[in-house]
Amino acid sequence: MSNTNIDNCDIVQDLLPLYYDDACSPASRKMVEAHLAECEKCRRTYEDLKNDTLDEILKEDSRGVLERHEKSEKTAAYKAGVIIAGLLLIPILITFIVGLVGGVGLDVSAVVTASMLLVAALTVVPLVSKERRLVKCILTGVIAILLIYFFVDRMNGQGEFILWTVPTIFGLSVVFFPFVIRGVELPAVLVDKKALVTMLWDTLWLFLTIVEVCGHSGDFEGMREGCIVAAVLMVPVWLVFLVARYLNIGVLAKSGIIVWICGVFTAFANDICLFFVYGTKQLTISHADLSVWITGENVNSNVYVIALIVSGIVGTALLVAGLVRRTVERTKKGISGN
Ligand SMILES: [Zn+2]
Repeated sequence: MSNTNIDNCDIVQDLLPLYYDDACSPASRKMVEAHLAECEKCRRTYEDLKNDTLDEILKEDSRGVLERHEKSEKTAAYKAGVIIAGLLLIPILITFIVGLVGGVGLDVSAVVTASMLLVAALTVVPLVSKERRLVKCILTGVIAILLIYFFVDRMNGQGEFILWTVPTIFGLSVVFFPFVIRGVELPAVLVDKKALVTMLWDTLWLFLTIVEVCGHSGDFEGMREGCIVAAVLMVPVWLVFLVARYLNIGVLAKSGIIVWICGVFTAFANDICLFFVYGTKQLTISHADLSVWITGENVNSNVYVIALIVSGIVGTALLVAGLVRRTVERTKKGISGN
């Protein structure tokens, strides 16, 4: 009896999906129903099947609804983008016609066009583009700003386009270049060097800015001093970057070294700059006396000494803590590995 029951269970469980879909013969249906009335186990299997199927159906349904919703939202956004683009054409057309009729040339119309492109970069582009929205917004925005500069400069006839452009690109790069480089595809060699490319790009534009701004006014002494100071100040920035990006010693130890770098450069950057710019040999911290806070020089050296001491203590503590934690973790891994 128990043997036949087990056999029946197998047969019934094979039939349950068909039974649920109402796709089995009347004879099988009768047999399944008779068995379910008796067998607790198969009844439970059948309940599970019903619930699972219901879940699946609900999931399918909600997926369909979400997809349709997303699609209709995208279409609505696209339409809104096209409408805004159309509206932006109105001021362009008006200034174009006024320019033609009034005989005042088309410079104003060009400036208005570039300005509308900037508005479009912030409104139309995110609405109509499907992917890499941020990158497209940023690039269109930058092109629009440069076009505005170009046409305004043409109207004024002062030849200052480059003077405005270089610092603008530098300023925008510091904020936006990381987003752009994240969103674009780079050649295989550069794929894992996006941070390095960002640092090189920003450094390049920093120096271009100094050269262009000073060169434009013919201030070559200022250009020399600016470049020296920028070079000295970029050393700690690059050191911090290289430590953070490439030194494989754990976060705590890295922070320790970075604290050292910051402390050392706070204390000596001024002296180093003075030496390279004017040839002045001075060591500000040699005037330190923590019991006297009177002259500017004395206050500076006291602050530098404190920065050195604090960064030395904090940096070393972090470095030691990091190395200890790493050793402990390695030992643990070694133990669990065995
Ligand atoms: Zn059964």
